[in-house]
Amino acid sequence: MASDCIFCKIRDGEIPADALRRDERCFVIRDINPRAPVHLLVIPNSHITSLPGLTPDEREAVGAMFSTAGEMAAIEGVDGSGYRLVVNQGRDADQSVSHLHLHLLGGKPLGGMCS
Ligand code: AMP
Repeated sequence: MASDCIFCKIRDGEIPADALRRDERCFVIRDINPRAPVHLLVIPNSHITSLPGLTPDEREAVGAMFSTAGEMAAIEGVDGSGYRLVVNQGRDADQSVSHLHLHLLGGKPLGGMCS
C-alpha cells in the first residue's frame, strides 16, 4: 500500500469507483477519462510500480491481469471487433499513476500502432 496512491485507495474503498470485477489478484474499473467507448483499467491488488524485479507472486498477478483483460473484452463485447492493451511506464509515456495498470481500449477503430 502506498498511502498517496489513487489505485490503492480505490482498492481499499477510500475513493469510490465501481469495480466491474475483483478477485485475489486484480480488479477492474472504468477509466474516469475514457479515450474510447470501452476504456477499462485492469489493476493488480498489490502496489506494483514497475515491471523489472517482479516477485514470483507479482508475476502471477501480471499474468492474471492479461487473462482478466481478455475476459473483460469479451464481456464488453469488443473481443470480435478488437481492442488494445496499453501499459504506460514512466515520464515519456505520460504515466500519471505509479501503480501498474493495463488500459483496455476498444469500441472504435484505434488507428495505427499505439496511436
Ligand atoms: P496512466 O496515465 O497510464 O498512468 O493512466 C492512469 C489512468 O487512470 C488515466 O487514464 C486516468 O484517467 C485514470 N484515473 C485516474 N483517477 C481515476 C479514478 N478515480 N477512477 C478511474 N480512473 C482514474
